[in-house]
Amino acid sequence: MRRIRAVSPEDFTLTAEAGVTLAEARGAAEEAGRLLPLSIGSEGTCNIGGVLSTNAGGVNVIRYGNARDLVLGLEAVLPDGRIWHGLNSLRKNNTGYDLKHLFVGAEGTLGIVTAAVLKLFPRPAERVTTLLAVPSAQAAVSLLSLAQERSGGGATSFELMNAATVDLVLEHFPDLPRPVETRAPFYALIEFSSGMKGTLRGVVESLLETAFEDEIVTDGTIAESEAQAEGLWTIRHNATEAMKNDPTYCVKCDVSVPIRHVPGFLKDADAAVEREAPGARVIAFGHMGDGNIHYDILGPEGAEDAAWRQKASRLERIVHDVVAEHEGSISAEHGIGQLKREELTERKSAVEMDMMRAIKAALDPQGLMNPGKLL
Ligand SMILES: Cc1cc2nc3c(=O)[nH]c(=O)nc-3n(C[C@H](O)[C@H](O)[C@H](O)COP(=O)(O)OP(=O)(O)OC[C@H]3O[C@@H](n4cnc5c(N)ncnc54)[C@H](O)[C@@H]3O)c2cc1C
Repeated sequence: MRRIRAVSPEDFTLTAEAGVTLAEARGAAEEAGRLLPLSIGSEGTCNIGGVLSTNAGGVNVIRYGNARDLVLGLEAVLPDGRIWHGLNSLRKNNTGYDLKHLFVGAEGTLGIVTAAVLKLFPRPAERVTTLLAVPSAQAAVSLLSLAQERSGGGATSFELMNAATVDLVLEHFPDLPRPVETRAPFYALIEFSSGMKGTLRGVVESLLETAFEDEIVTDGTIAESEAQAEGLWTIRHNATEAMKNDPTYCVKCDVSVPIRHVPGFLKDADAAVEREAPGARVIAFGHMGDGNIHYDILGPEGAEDAAWRQKASRLERIVHDVVAEHEGSISAEHGIGQLKREELTERKSAVEMDMMRAIKAALDPQGLMNPGKLL
């Protein structure tokens, strides 16, 4: 299942089989003069079947949505062996339950996705990337509003990194230059794009002037070239790698809260972590434009591994409790799998769990599909 079956620039669609990598699908769209906007760190290896089954998100969700928002049609093999030929490319189709969405994010528990029709978009003609020092998480929320208002929703990425994230990346990748002189509690990496050439840079410069006047930004840089933009992204992309290089075990929480709750969540979670594990280092970064924070926790400098692991085992729950207080989700984009299966039943309402189990029982009464995952 490695074929691109069709690319239709007129329909702005691409039909790919499940084993096509995301990078190959993006490349095929590009060759046809179109953009497949789904973009994640694993795009060279992950497959269309996988990204749909995990409803992958990534860095462009703020503008284009996640995998679910990008699928128009689906072909799947059901647990009873029948094939559902749902590969249509309709933008409007109000004929009852939208079955494709059952398979998106189902983690393979309802059937095997074999192919999909994905939405394409015009390719951006101009891109502006900026990395900004931000005095607080609340300032970052204000900056996001300002950026979206003044650019007409032109932000394609809005990534937040706390100071500890940038420090850790620079420690483990010493060849990378510090992106802005001023040290700040947070940094925002924003990418704007536009289909029209020649207007975007002026818009961004003007909104940044306002941001400086309003003191929601204290320093910053705008990339002058694609290479410089790539350099700014390198810091963000290396966050996970930098954590892997740290000698202490890392607690990983992939959470989301409503955007307005991001400052409160970060403040409350930081306080809860410090109470439970004084000196633990919070590496908080991620897609703040979607309210999605990768809230990861490393042990205190020089922590003894066994003692830290024991403490660490409680921290995920503690952070998830704070997420619940802020009306959030314990899995923003990485799914449930086996690790969060039990916790899911505690965090979701009985009504939600009943509906999910009923759907599973209706489509897969023998429990053949990916047993032990999700439900
Ligand atoms: C470096 C890195 C960066 C990442 N960044 C992001 C990010 O920014 N945002 C994000 O959302 N995710 C991110 N991810 C995780 C990402 O969600 C997965 O890499 C990808 O979505 C899963 O695709 P896969 O082909 O690897 O699937 P697998 O890992 O092979 O499978 C994932 C699940 O889908 C099921 N599945 C796979 N194929 C099918 C199919 N054809 N039919 C039915 N079920 C199927 C599997 O059974 C499994 O339950 C990242 C991962 C890495 C390694």
